[in-house]
Amino acid sequence: MRILVIEDERQLARHICSALTRNGHTASALHDGAEGLQSALTDPPELIVLDLNLPGLDGFNLLDQLRQKHCPARVLILTARGEVEYRIKGLKAGADDYLGKPFSMDELVARVEALGRRAATPQASDVLKVGSLHLDVHRRRVMREGQEIPLSPREFELLQVLMEEPGRVFSRIELSDRVWQRDHGYDTRTVEIFIVRLRKKVDAGFDHPLIQTVRAAGYMIKAHG
Ligand code: CA
Repeated sequence: MRILVIEDERQLARHICSALTRNGHTASALHDGAEGLQSALTDPPELIVLDLNLPGLDGFNLLDQLRQKHCPARVLILTARGEVEYRIKGLKAGADDYLGKPFSMDELVARVEALGRRAATPQASDVLKVGSLHLDVHRRRVMREGQEIPLSPREFELLQVLMEEPGRVFSRIELSDRVWQRDHGYDTRTVEIFIVRLRKKVDAGFDHPLIQTVRAAGYMIKAHG
């Protein structure tokens, strides 16, 4: 994968790039938020490793602008350990996954590759439909009532899992496992944040909400009526 690392701690950025390069990826680093944004918009990489605390432009603003401009890159944010609110804020702003500092390079490479995995293996069926919502697996486009709905890569994957089996209830743990593929445990809070994000994009402004919460069980997607 082609990866852009935006991290102002130069030594850390260098270590990240060499770990990624050793594992067959192409990685380059920038140390300033504004430069990082510029580069990501003019020449979008497949994945961005993004530190949140940056000079020039902080990671949250950067992320926000990337998503507003529909930059297709996957984003893995780096957050200092224990900063739960930071992580939640980052995911709400459009990150696809996160890693707490300090982390091992093996863990970083594993997170990066988990983010790339689903993108590289599109399913056989091409267009999934639930009510007026259409998801084109190969083109990675989502439309509702003729209107295109831009989604981040992880939002797309979560929606895809739900739409592959309409009417089936998925637990938060299963969704966490299917979409984020964490090696150690589950993160149901992240799933909840992504469901909120998806609802805002897929259901807000339409008459019949498709994404449904099933009390004490999880979520499902189902056409109205
Ligand atoms: Ca920093």
